[in-house]
Amino acid sequence: MAAENGGSGDASLKKRVVELEQRQEALDADFDLLSRLSQRLCVAARGQDAALDTRLDALQDSLKRAPTERGFRADGSAVEREVMHFFQRRDQLVRRSLEALRTVLSQVGDRLPDPQSGGELDQLLSSLPEVLENFYGYPDVLEQTAQLQAKALGTLAPQAAAAGGDQAGQDAAARGASEEEDRELICRRVAVLLLELVGQLSVPPNEAARAHRLMSRIEGGFGWDELETVLQDTVDLIVAVAVFGHAEFEGYLANINGQLADIQQFLGESREDQRQAHASSQALDQAVRSDVSSVEDALQQASSLEQLKSSVRSQLGDIVEAMDRYRGELEAREQRVEKRLGELQGKLEAMEEQAQRVQSHLEEQRLRALSDPLTLLPNRAAYDERVQQEYARWARYAGELTMVVCDLDHFKKINDGYGHLAGDKVLRVVAKILTRSIRETDFVARYGGEEFVILMPETDTDRAQQVMDKLRQTVAKSPFNFKGEPVRVTMSFGISCFGPNDSAETVFERADKALYQAKGEGRNRCVVAA
Ligand code: GH3
Ligand code: MG
Ligand code: MG
Repeated sequence: MAAENGGSGDASLKKRVVELEQRQEALDADFDLLSRLSQRLCVAARGQDAALDTRLDALQDSLKRAPTERGFRADGSAVEREVMHFFQRRDQLVRRSLEALRTVLSQVGDRLPDPQSGGELDQLLSSLPEVLENFYGYPDVLEQTAQLQAKALGTLAPQAAAAGGDQAGQDAAARGASEEEDRELICRRVAVLLLELVGQLSVPPNEAARAHRLMSRIEGGFGWDELETVLQDTVDLIVAVAVFGHAEFEGYLANINGQLADIQQFLGESREDQRQAHASSQALDQAVRSDVSSVEDALQQASSLEQLKSSVRSQLGDIVEAMDRYRGELEAREQRVEKRLGELQGKLEAMEEQAQRVQSHLEEQRLRALSDPLTLLPNRAAYDERVQQEYARWARYAGELTMVVCDLDHFKKINDGYGHLAGDKVLRVVAKILTRSIRETDFVARYGGEEFVILMPETDTDRAQQVMDKLRQTVAKSPFNFKGEPVRVTMSFGISCFGPNDSAETVFERADKALYQAKGEGRNRCVVAA
């Protein structure tokens, strides 16, 4: 019985153990599921609040490493507390977003073009408090705000605006608007460059009207569709100018050739004249001799004085006639020569004039090739030429020669913030300040980009530093204004002088290094190379 009892007790105990084991397994499975779920939720909830993220990270870590109940409980409670705090902070975040959006929308509201847009704005404003409660409501709100803003700025294409709620249409409209802006910007930039280019051409009188028309068209502004024809017209003008320059030079050479042929012909004619003059003087000589010998014969043979007289008279008449003939020929020859000489003289004068024109045209071309069209300063090629001259002079006479390399500070920011045209304006103004600040015997060139180089003969580095420091202050004090904001422009300077064993390159390198040092030390300063 005891055994029986014991047997039945065993069986019930075993059953109980099995039940407990099954419950444990079910609990373990639940815990696993809960742990995985918690990990996923940690990932999903991340990104709303920095402090909450830290707690979620810790919980996810402990769940991954050792998903024991203890660790889970501690980190889980911390997350729970943080979530409560986060709810308070979230209200604040929503309030701030709401305020910021209301400010933006009220600015937009002042400039909306039509009542329909005004209605859309009111609707958006009234839906804001509810929509912003949920994070997923934000993209819609921002998109609608962007759309209204585009309408207010007048950049939304009308047909796209009419598409209303069509998302693809709205995206395309926004893209179209920004592409349109880019194109306008490109056209304006190209216009500035073309004006500079055409302004640089030495246009001959027969092309002046065409150049004038083109300049007016560029100045009046042109759209993207016209860009190609404007560029083509510019190319045509340049070709015409080049052809003219070439033709003028060719004409000059052809004239010289013609002139030389004329001179040759004149010399040939003169030689022939001379030969003829020789022949006629010989003829005269012979005629006179024969007439004189006829007179001698007549003297011997004359039987009467009367006969002698008439014979001598006739011979003398022949002599006078021969002399007259000779003088006539001589005079005709002289007149011919004089006329030819006059013609030649006239042609030579015309040629001289033409040579002068060609020369000044060539000089103009040379000067253009050596100057920078934006700032009108000498360019780098001009610097290369000048530095060799200054170097040679310095090497010959000994004395002082100082070089300054200077560069605008953070110029990229001006371009990026206010546009390339603003950057160009700064370059022109700075170029003027540089030119005004140096002596007649000094030389300044735009070396490239926003970098300039100055040569100062008979100036030591101390004096150069004084001059550059004054110049630096003038630039820093210059009142630049872009988009209605005052903008400060500064420059940095590197200074070095020529010394024994130096070449233009070694001095430039030293000055450039000093400039680099000036940039490193905070910019808007002058550094003299060690
Ligand atoms: P840092 O003070 O170190 O010199 O900085 P930075 O921004 O002046 O120098 P960086 O070399 O980074 O940029 C120079 C800029 O100058 C970039 C280039 O687009 C601009 N630039 C060069 N030439 C011209 C030009 O003819 N016109 C305009 N507007 N910008 C130019
Ligand atoms: Mg710079
Ligand atoms: Mg630079």
